[in-house]
Amino acid sequence: MRIKRGGPVVAGLALSLGAVAACGTGGGSGDAAQPPTAGATSPAGAEQQRSAPSEASPLDGKVIVIDPGHNGGNADAPAEINKQVKIGNGSKACDTTGTSTDDGYTEHAFNWDVSKRLEKALEAEGAEVTLTRDNDEGVGPCITERAAIANELKADASLSVHADGTSASGHGFHIIAPKAIERNAEMAPASRELGTALRDAYKDGTGIPYSNYLGKQGMDFRDDLGGLNMSTVPKVFLEAGNMRNPGDAAKMTDAKFRERIATSLAQGFETYFS
Ligand code: ZN
Repeated sequence: MRIKRGGPVVAGLALSLGAVAACGTGGGSGDAAQPPTAGATSPAGAEQQRSAPSEASPLDGKVIVIDPGHNGGNADAPAEINKQVKIGNGSKACDTTGTSTDDGYTEHAFNWDVSKRLEKALEAEGAEVTLTRDNDEGVGPCITERAAIANELKADASLSVHADGTSASGHGFHIIAPKAIERNAEMAPASRELGTALRDAYKDGTGIPYSNYLGKQGMDFRDDLGGLNMSTVPKVFLEAGNMRNPGDAAKMTDAKFRERIATSLAQGFETYFS
């Protein structure tokens, strides 16, 4: 897969990532080797080009935490996942089982598959990616622990991957961004930017329309999700589609389409960091 490289890297958004040096104003002799597939733009014109010797991806060196929602063992561990945890403005269950398509393709499996594909796509562009769980057979972790993983890494951005399960007539995707509570107020504006970038890339890349049953223009804002309330880094949730809608479900059960989803999301992260 190939993510289109953007313009010059702007090391924006108060992201104090130390080593972004690559794509300066064209002076220094870059040390990074030109990747073989990088755009072969060597204009032979006489005019002085500002082109840098090599152009790093905006994702290069970015710390990104991907959180595949739920887990394969949750359904068999009700005591553990129903344990209440504090989410900043109340309490909520540690985790839930998630939904599934009518044919039994589970949300946790979808979330896991998309997250692994996204991890690969982001790492190919130089990002440092951590997933909040190691496989799709375990229990949890609790929503608070999922947030803590990104907080401890001081992640530049984090995404929880989910899919919805509502009445069959509902279809489309939405992004959930934090409605600020006291403890996450500082990261709410950046989360909204992240959410907008991912929303646009997801819509463009997958062709899935905005949800027709929740949110506005593909965006919803909530303060009842532990994963957002407890995050001190920019973070949003994706609800990739409605698994109970036949059209959405057909896409989500298709591995090729899940690759398209991952590619689109990677593009959204790239836009966010550009
Ligand atoms: Zn979910």
